[in-house]
Amino acid sequence: MSFSDLGLNPKLLQAVEDVGYTTPTPIQEQAIPYVLMGRDVMGCAQTGTGKTASFTLPMIEMLSSGRARARMPRSLILTPTRELAHQISENFESYGKYSKLSKALLIGGSSFAEQTKLLERGVDVLIATPGRLLDLFERGKIMLVDTKLLVIDEADRMLDMGFIPDVEKIVSLLPPLRQTLFFSATMAPEIRKLSDKFLSNPKEISVTKQASTAETVEQTIIKIDGGPKEKREALRQIMTSEGEIQSAILFCNRKKDVDILNKSLNVHGFSAAALHGDMAQSSRMETLSDFKEGKVKLLVCSDVAARGLDIPAVSHVFNFDVPVNPEDYVHRIGRTGRAGREGKAFTIATIEDYKGLRNVLTTINSGIPVVSLEGFDSWTDEEAASLKGRRRRRPTKTAAKTAAKSSDLKEAKPSRRRKKSDDIAEDASTDAVASTDASNGADEKRSVKKPVRTTRRKTKPTAVIGEREPSSEPSNPTSSFGDHTPAFILREAKVA
Ligand code: AMP
Repeated sequence: MSFSDLGLNPKLLQAVEDVGYTTPTPIQEQAIPYVLMGRDVMGCAQTGTGKTASFTLPMIEMLSSGRARARMPRSLILTPTRELAHQISENFESYGKYSKLSKALLIGGSSFAEQTKLLERGVDVLIATPGRLLDLFERGKIMLVDTKLLVIDEADRMLDMGFIPDVEKIVSLLPPLRQTLFFSATMAPEIRKLSDKFLSNPKEISVTKQASTAETVEQTIIKIDGGPKEKREALRQIMTSEGEIQSAILFCNRKKDVDILNKSLNVHGFSAAALHGDMAQSSRMETLSDFKEGKVKLLVCSDVAARGLDIPAVSHVFNFDVPVNPEDYVHRIGRTGRAGREGKAFTIATIEDYKGLRNVLTTINSGIPVVSLEGFDSWTDEEAASLKGRRRRRPTKTAAKTAAKSSDLKEAKPSRRRKKSDDIAEDASTDAVASTDASNGADEKRSVKKPVRTTRRKTKPTAVIGEREPSSEPSNPTSSFGDHTPAFILREAKVA
């Protein structure tokens, strides 16, 4: 199928050709005709599938006739983050260059006066984050009674970020007779509930990223027994062993850790920059463009800041923290191995991450090779399980020293970090694969390139993360991907 089969006008086809696209992606092929028919659409699609053009192209087509009135936008796109709003706006600029549509971006960090001026002139397309939109509505600067086309993008992320009450309020301000396009990377029950509420007889479309994209992602879990300092040391060791990294995204769960890791990497001579929601909009955009241009090789960010960013050709993803939300793991690693390029994803996991790691493995319904790192303590599942939910962290070297000095902490166990060499296996023969599949319960072997080596343990090796009870079904009923689990995460773990 080509774009000309989708019912788009010649101006749009020219703009698409100018951008260089020759064939519509599956979501574009399936969604565009229905959007043009005026149907509601519920699209289950991740970033990277071409979902943005699947709504921007038909919107431009539909809005090309008619005129906007002052303060009454004709269409509204709600997005969870400013960056995503910018990317959607750029899409409208590229595809709409031969169509004279007016648009406004209502996002935090930009001037109210400028945004109000644009709204006064009338806009065909309003791209907004929920908070800023409500703010302007409450100031009487905007009316939504004429907004007959609504797009809710990345609904799953709206949910994670607590935006749903705002979205519900906004939807209640729109006319009930409207067209709604709803996109989400996952179809968790809460998302399904929302779509039932907002959509009327929607055409449901579900796509996964092209299998070739992430089949090329080599995933590894590195077990480290220690705190943030040990994790940073381990990260540097892994990065150094990877040779010259052209572009990598490093994920932390907390903004403050994004800053700490970024500073630490720079102190150690790495070319890194931070990206998180607390930064001024201008510096976020600047950082992003430095990264895109290759001026900065490592981008340290939080999930929220990274969401929806269109960054091509990232060679590595490093999960400095195991994500709290297991689906974020999929989003994170989906940033590498794109367009047939090889990519690697490393996840550093401490004993405290045991549960989080299990959740990730349950969600992806697949195994990931687990290795230990030379010179660093590892941990076993038995040790993790024995924590029994207690928040116990083993003392790091420094903590152990302090503890030894303190008479009331005599029992503190010194760190086992930097094991003696006889504890380190010289080959990778006991390397293991974490798996959710009971049939994978037996240890599987994987050859590991230097210097990521396994620690040979006298107890059970690290093969049992995510292992299910033999009676468990190998399928994954709890995964919110359901039947739509992206192809790349369904692949078997690479084992040698
Ligand atoms: P999205 O999922 O909308 O974030 O798009 C992911 C990437 O795919 C972006 O870099 C788009 O520019 C690109 N893209 C979108 N549609 C097509 C297409 N039909 N052919 C090639 N690339 C596309």
